[in-house]
Amino acid sequence: MVNTIDLIKEMKEYAEDNNVPIITDEGINYIRNYIKENKIKRILEVGTAIGYSSILMALTDEEITITTIERDEKRYLEAVKNIKKFHLEERITLLYKDAFDVELDEEFDLVFIDAAKAQNTRFFEKFSKNLAKQGTIITDNMNFHGLVEDESKIESRNLRALIRKVKAYHEFLENNEDFKTTFLNIGDGLAVSKPI
Ligand code: SAH
Ligand code: MG
Repeated sequence: MVNTIDLIKEMKEYAEDNNVPIITDEGINYIRNYIKENKIKRILEVGTAIGYSSILMALTDEEITITTIERDEKRYLEAVKNIKKFHLEERITLLYKDAFDVELDEEFDLVFIDAAKAQNTRFFEKFSKNLAKQGTIITDNMNFHGLVEDESKIESRNLRALIRKVKAYHEFLENNEDFKTTFLNIGDGLAVSKPI
């Protein structure tokens, strides 16, 4: 019989072999503890990839439900398969769409932003409307694979432009009067934002 640990390992290997940027162990462990401590039940994730982070968040507590959005067909189909393997179809709703074309009217206790990094400010503005009063928005990859600290080393103009956008998002969060954000040097950098 295949167990949960083996299935998780398989997903990680698939991600490695196919260059799918799944969250680090450190990052997901922090989020899972945060979910437990804050009794989070309703989660919105922007950027499913193959379902790895969704599945690990769902396994934290049986009452958790997740809506997760992915625009890439291959990854979406892989996520569908993975979620079935864990029998989590009832608790994880996958939307095969561009997040900007998704309109949700539900409320979520946690919004996890982990999609196209250049669009983070727009994701934040769009989905903060779906955040419950005491909710939290967590953004992954605030360090952008360490590149944010080391811009001088980067030769590609596109990549430099992208890093500038990641930095602009950092400033947007810092100056946001409706949210208080804590920046954590965990995994690839997490931003934890709470309404003031
Ligand atoms: N959360 C995943 C990793 C997500 S990787 C994990 O840790 O397991 C980021 C994903 O966001 C990519 O698969 C990419 O296709 C998707 N993405 C980027 N921009 C998007 C958008 N505008 N709408 C939907 N998905 C998007
Ligand atoms: Mg990420």
